[in-house]
Amino acid sequence: MKYYSTNHQTPDVTLQEAVVKGLAADKGLFMPECINALPTSFFEQMSQMSLQEVAYQVAQAFFGEDIPADKLKQIVYDTMNFNIPLVKVSDNIYSLELFHGPTLAFKDVGARFMARMLGYFVSGQDKLVNVLVATSGDTGSAVANGFLGVDGIHVYVLYPKGKVSLIQEKQFTTLGKNVTALEVDGTFDDCQRLVKSAFMDDELNQHMQLTSANSINVARFLPQAFYYFWAVAQLQVANIVCCVPSGNFGNITAGLFGKRMGLPISRFIAANNRNDIFYQYLQTGQYNPRPSIATIANAMDVGDPSNFARVLALYDNSHAAICQDISGATYTDAEIAEEIRRVYETNGYLLDPHGACGHRALREGLRPGETGFFIETAHPAKFKDTVENIICEQVSIPQRLQEFMKGTKQSINMTSRFEDFKTYLMAE
Ligand SMILES: *Cc1c(COP(=O)(O)O)cnc(C)c1O
Repeated sequence: MKYYSTNHQTPDVTLQEAVVKGLAADKGLFMPECINALPTSFFEQMSQMSLQEVAYQVAQAFFGEDIPADKLKQIVYDTMNFNIPLVKVSDNIYSLELFHGPTLAFKDVGARFMARMLGYFVSGQDKLVNVLVATSGDTGSAVANGFLGVDGIHVYVLYPKGKVSLIQEKQFTTLGKNVTALEVDGTFDDCQRLVKSAFMDDELNQHMQLTSANSINVARFLPQAFYYFWAVAQLQVANIVCCVPSGNFGNITAGLFGKRMGLPISRFIAANNRNDIFYQYLQTGQYNPRPSIATIANAMDVGDPSNFARVLALYDNSHAAICQDISGATYTDAEIAEEIRRVYETNGYLLDPHGACGHRALREGLRPGETGFFIETAHPAKFKDTVENIICEQVSIPQRLQEFMKGTKQSINMTSRFEDFKTYLMAE
């Protein structure tokens, strides 16, 4: 399968090039040239299949031409080796719990898949591939854990000193092996600038092969389609609505790909916090990016969603067509907190701040006869302090998260000057 750039200023590339490069040369995002519909027989049998079987069938439609079947199957089965239960919250609302993976967030799926696919593509070559990732907390842990132990790849996680929580820091500084944590004396923006400068530095790129693992990579974003099929396979009702708490819009775009492949979801709701650039776009047809503001659903604090270009490409730039499939919602911190409290008291279900946006949008937006599920993107214990302040009760930390706390932090101090970062990498 060929992949084109959403900016159309560069030739099509192979899957391997798209995965290794991440971003197209014209700074566009890669899109598969066609989206194969799945056969009716698959949709009929889906409810009898395991999560891994469903995921493998979907993966075949995207990647089957480019990766041998046994290899692809191994990548999918290794990636999807944890549960993704669909839990009933109330009569017509379900939670798709994507927090049962190693770092308790949905990003585990994309990060684990990308690590394995990149590992496959570089397995023939003798040169090590170096993944640089800047993180404000959660991306770093999912990427580091996803790539841990994958041959031929080394990961450098850059994070702002003193600005991530202890539990987040432990999740990427205690791993060792092929993961190096760099503690930068600066802000998240400094970390991101260091990474970007590294990708643009010719001397450095001649010295070592560099790539990124952010959500624009097709190998990170497409596998997120798997679990939309899995949710529908378990629901088996008509008139399904899916709500996705959204920041960079990679997750919901993967769901829209699923719909294009024939998945019976009648419509989507994109739930935003106060960073509601997409919501405003739906209302006005104008896309006006603006600086992000801090909220309690901080993984959705995005002022210029990077996958918006993919949504436009999927719908041929038609605002009307986008509005037919997707509606929006936007919530303040107070509304998010209120929803967490309300659902905990009424239904005995504890939401995290991101999932709370998703639940609220369904509760307010479902029409008679519709059944909704939302993506619960992270475990509430990942936002322990926030959630405890809201429900005035302690939140227990799952065993998997506690395990990280036992490890010893290993990190390398780094200034925020690119020259220092470059000198360090040149010596590696
Ligand atoms: C990354 C993230 C999101 C936003 O997902 P996008 O694909 O960027 O829209 C939502 N919730 C949590 C917990 C996240 O980590």
